[in-house]
Order: sequence, then structure tokens, then C-alpha cells
Amino acid sequence: MRINDFDDSLDPVILKRGRQYYQEGRVSRIEKTTAGWTAVVAGTHDYRVEVQLEPNGFIRFSSCDCPYEGGEYCKHQAAVFYALRAGVTTGGPGGQETMATGPMGGLEKVLTDMEPGQMRDIILDETRALFQAHIERSAREADQRSKYKQVCVMIKTYKKACGELAARSMITELCRLYPRRPAFLDELGRI
Ligand SMILES: [Zn+2]
Repeated sequence: MRINDFDDSLDPVILKRGRQYYQEGRVSRIEKTTAGWTAVVAGTHDYRVEVQLEPNGFIRFSSCDCPYEGGEYCKHQAAVFYALRAGVTTGGPGGQETMATGPMGGLEKVLTDMEPGQMRDIILDETRALFQAHIERSAREADQRSKYKQVCVMIKTYKKACGELAARSMITELCRLYPRRPAFLDELGRI
């Protein structure tokens, strides 16, 4: 079973109590280990739960040190499953905090849920910004004609990628920034 659909496999009573525990904030100290996650669940005593997940969310291993023997999974494990699926740590000495890198929490969950077109737009935007920053840095560090030429080659590629207008505005900006580099202005003028 996977962390996404553990509710299909667990005993309904265990599920209900686990969800209750989770909602009451009894799951704390969720920590990433090399193999998965550990957490402490506050019940009659504090119990320690360990869960190992495959990258696809399959629950490879799960254990709890409570004495429950009624089935494979106890309510503490169920509570931790809920917490991991929600990608949120609750309770604990620090109060509530968001888990940035849950198995299906944080970025991974956002990416999984995102429309492909939306993702593409974000990547395009970021790539454009990275490209632009790279050219600006290269321009700043350039100090001779051969380097200026290299910057201009990048700007030509940038023009192909991001359009005439974007390239023009970049060239204008570079001319404004480096009026005392005649060789650079010369090269920029040839684009
Ligand atoms: Zn237990």
C-alpha cells in the first residue's frame, strides 16, 4: 500500500483512531532518516514510529514500539501515515511547523498536483531570469574584446530564446551600465 491510499488497507477502527490522534496534534518530532521517517506519537505513553517509503510513496516498512498486537498496524502508525501524507508536522516543543520535504508534502506534492502547462510557464520564467542573470554577470566580469564578444554571442542566443524585444532591452541596459567600455559598445552595436 502507498502513503496516498493507506486508508483502503487499514482496519477502519485503527484508521479512525489514528486520524483522531493526528488531528489532536499527537504526532510530533517527525524526522527524516536515511530510510524514511521517524515520529513520536503521544498516547498512553509516547511511542516511536518508524516508516520507510519508496520514492513512489509505497510503504516498504512501518513499525511502532507500542504493545498493540491486534493487527499489522496500530493507531500510532495510522496517525503518522496521516501526518506524512499531509506533509505537516504538528505539536512538539516548537509548536506547529511546516515540513518542507515530506514524502508527499512540500515541493513534491505541489509539483505532482500542478498542471503541466503551469509548470512549463514557471520553468520558462525561471530559465529566462537565470539566463539574463548569467549574461549580466558575464558582462560585469568581461574586461576585453574577446570576452565582450562572448557576451554578445550569449545575447544572440538569448534573442532567439526570448525574443527581439527582450534582447533589445538587455542591450540598452548594458550600454547604459558600461558607457566607458567602447569596445563593448562596439560589439553590442553589431548584434
Ligand atoms: Zn503503536
